[in-house]
Amino acid sequence: MATLSKPSNSVEELTNSLTGELANFSGDKLVNFIDGREFAPLSGNYFPTEDPAIGKPYLQVPDSDEQDLNLAVQAARRAFPAWRNTPAEDRARLLDRIADLIEQHFEEFVRAECVDTGKPLWLCRTTDIPRTIANLRTFADGARTFSGEVFTKSATRGYTLRQPIGVVATISPWNLPLLLFTWKLAPALAAGNCVIAKPSEVTPLTATMFARVAAMAGVPPGVLNVLHGRGAKIGAAITRHPDIAAISFTGGTATGTEIYSTAARQLKKVSLELGGKNPTIIFDDADFDAAVDGAARAAFTNQGQICLCGSRILVHAPLYQKFREALIARTAEIQIGDPLDETTRYAATVSRPHMEKILSYIDLAQQEGGAVLIGGHRATLEGRCRNGYFIQPTLLEGLSANCRTNQEEIFGPVAALLPFATEAEALSIANSTTYGLSASVWTKDAARAERISAHLESGTVWINCWNVRDLDMPFGGMKKSGIGREGKRRAMEFFTEERSVIAPTSN
Ligand code: NDP
Repeated sequence: MATLSKPSNSVEELTNSLTGELANFSGDKLVNFIDGREFAPLSGNYFPTEDPAIGKPYLQVPDSDEQDLNLAVQAARRAFPAWRNTPAEDRARLLDRIADLIEQHFEEFVRAECVDTGKPLWLCRTTDIPRTIANLRTFADGARTFSGEVFTKSATRGYTLRQPIGVVATISPWNLPLLLFTWKLAPALAAGNCVIAKPSEVTPLTATMFARVAAMAGVPPGVLNVLHGRGAKIGAAITRHPDIAAISFTGGTATGTEIYSTAARQLKKVSLELGGKNPTIIFDDADFDAAVDGAARAAFTNQGQICLCGSRILVHAPLYQKFREALIARTAEIQIGDPLDETTRYAATVSRPHMEKILSYIDLAQQEGGAVLIGGHRATLEGRCRNGYFIQPTLLEGLSANCRTNQEEIFGPVAALLPFATEAEALSIANSTTYGLSASVWTKDAARAERISAHLESGTVWINCWNVRDLDMPFGGMKKSGIGREGKRRAMEFFTEERSVIAPTSN
């Protein structure tokens, strides 16, 4: 079992960047968290994870397998009866206490997320960690306010009970590691379930730190268990485990489809938040500067690695040339920098394989007849980050709406410009992919915004804004972007079973 003390990070650069007790691991080895304790993987096997900004391994990740999972599930099963019976107010207080502790260790979490993902410190400080705290507080409130319904208008009177399911699993991706990890496990815990949580193998650090603060906050042993490892191994084992009754998954559509089919054989409850190929639609009456800024943010925030990023920029023909020039100029202003530099707003992609995947799509775009308007290459930085996985923000043009570049999710800083002549054509292009996650529409015509919102095949439509979220609102995708909805009430519903209790009115 690894200990909490003795920092010994092997990479020189990291010693300066990660600070604090929460991120210290004996021998650089991350730990699983099972039954309230830190465990090495029972097999003793690890694999390295890299700091993508410097392109070097810096931590060893437990290569967990079924043995570790069985321990975790047994612990969760033991913990469930007491946790289910814990008053909702007490569960809410625990979530609030974890949020308080993350606030106290805010900078430690910020730096850890930055090093693990290669995203700018600034983004971790303004988005990832504050949203993590907001997730916990939202679902603390969820625990306090969630209830069943009462039915009185027939010969019977009835009500529903919403009760926790039992042992559930959450599987989350690398792009917003702690944010998405907590977006799933907070409602699961709030509703009274015991959780097996698997973060991405690419970004395992903050999930481990989270387990430590959860223990400090007083989460009872077995209620939260964190298992690291490879998706194809421990992720698949979680999916098929007969004692795990529900799975909340965020990740790629191919993985989601695999999970869905395995879960179907055991009739497990499944929530799937999957990929996107989202349109940003600019009409010629839009507020021009706001639309240029919005399209650039939607394309390049987090190096384009957000499921909600707008990778197809549809521009009304009368505005096309002017918009194209302004967007190129806006893109040229983006400075690529060391993620640990306080001034950096755009930094590394998450890993070498992912960088190579993105670059292969830029090659594909050119084979498909597209022109690179700006960017198009790996970026090389000086000094500490000279071997990091950076890609220039890239704009493409001249591609058909139906080509692979415009149909498949690239999940990187690559967006294609597409002109359209009419509202009907904009809708037809926007709806032409198999995805349906989100869209943003830029126009001053409120009637048009309403019309187009009603016909866009996507779970979220933003009007004259992008990625603004009210955590109480439903969130999720249509078509191959997912099944089910998250958000305060929707997630609490997912993580509970509903029981109807009925008696005759005369009783
Ligand atoms: P993946 O689908 O590769 O992985 C997601 C998670 O699933 C990881 O924890 C991964 O583990 C695990 N996993 C991989 N294979 C299996 C398997 N066979 N069984 C069970 N679990 C498995 O996605 P990425 O991590 O690459 O994330 C990017 C994707 O996530 C994009 O498609 C993006 O659009 C989507 N996404 C969707 C969001 C939404 O809300 N709709 C939000 C954010 C991202 P490991 O990493 O260890 O392999």
